[in-house]
Amino acid sequence: MQTIETYDFSGKKALIRVDFNVPLNENFEITDDTRMRAALPTIKKVIEKGGSPIIMSHLGRPKNGPEDKFSLRHIVQHLSDLLDGTTVNIAPDCIGDEAKVMASELKAGEVLILENLRFYKEETKGDEDFAKKLAENGDCWINDAFGTAHRAHASTAIIAKFFPNDKMFGYVIGSELESLDKVLKAPAKPFTAIMGGAKVSSKITIIENMLDKVDNLIIGGGMTFTFVKAQGGKIGNSICEDEYLETALNIIKLAKEKGVQLVMATDVLAADNFSNDANTQIVPANEIPDGWEGLDAGPESIEIFKKVIEESGTILWNGPVGVFEFETFEKGSRAIADAIGTATAKGAFSLIGGGDSVACINKFNKAEEVSYISTAGGALLEYLEGKELPGVAAVREQ
Ligand code: AMP
Repeated sequence: MQTIETYDFSGKKALIRVDFNVPLNENFEITDDTRMRAALPTIKKVIEKGGSPIIMSHLGRPKNGPEDKFSLRHIVQHLSDLLDGTTVNIAPDCIGDEAKVMASELKAGEVLILENLRFYKEETKGDEDFAKKLAENGDCWINDAFGTAHRAHASTAIIAKFFPNDKMFGYVIGSELESLDKVLKAPAKPFTAIMGGAKVSSKITIIENMLDKVDNLIIGGGMTFTFVKAQGGKIGNSICEDEYLETALNIIKLAKEKGVQLVMATDVLAADNFSNDANTQIVPANEIPDGWEGLDAGPESIEIFKKVIEESGTILWNGPVGVFEFETFEKGSRAIADAIGTATAKGAFSLIGGGDSVACINKFNKAEEVSYISTAGGALLEYLEGKELPGVAAVREQ
């Protein structure tokens, strides 16, 4: 397999699929350029090695062909600024003669952006003919958009066919895969996964996949109460998915069979309504009074969670263990973030993924204390579920 380090880019036009789907305000100014900054190392490397980057991306969700508000021309100047004034041009279309001419006339070190891929329905349909036309703009293909790697779109996967010996990952995907594989394929033991959040239903496939890999599985947050109820506990008004009671019992059984230590809250901070200034009391997780709901882990549970995490060699955290958005119910999630920081300082590898746990880590200012934060939503979840991602497979397949 080619890599960006070993590939000879000199005089080559490198098609780079990035995720420049950045938020814009009503004046079309970029309000968060994190995704653009993430792609800079790949773009710079191609330039440094004598190539010309040709950027492919989507922006927003255009429905019927070109729409000015979704034009990538809004990001051209900013990309040039981020690249210290490098010449950045935009082709008015991502395929066709004009794009081809602009691509072929590109000088080494200059950057060309192809207009929004999703101005064509063929992109998301994974149309082969469209992928071929995109491929005609370049000499090689770099996939660096992990956020869309779970989609078999023309530019994220199908295009690979036209570069059998000239395809590779960029640094964004490369480091995501390296970190995820460290956790999923060769974890330092003991390996602890912390699965939180509101619902069992959205995490069930990940939990099942994790049972084959982890030593400890901490189940926290709103999910807890489906497990408690399934075992005959009293959960008051706590959130619960009655259709998943059987599933919860099955997870308990599977964990036992596979020798996984299942760790769940023994006590909870219960509230008399879903608000930051609700009345609260600490009660056993299986004895929540009527009219009360569990919104955070209790002090005893927090100590148990901390001990397991601090003794771990690998940690994966997906989902808060309480309603961390309310200060009153953030203690459990804060303690998890602290314990992960402590374990990481002692040498553990920690990976935080999934929107809300990333929000947690940022809220508690712990981003610098963990090993890796994945910002990919759907693609990360599918990878954790054990699915093969089309955008990854397309690069790896020979
Ligand atoms: P998810 O997107 O499934 O990871 O869920 C994250 C959401 O779960 C956050 O907004 C939390 O506020 C919420 N959550 C965590 N614990 C609870 C709980 N005990 N009751 C209700 N919601 C919760």
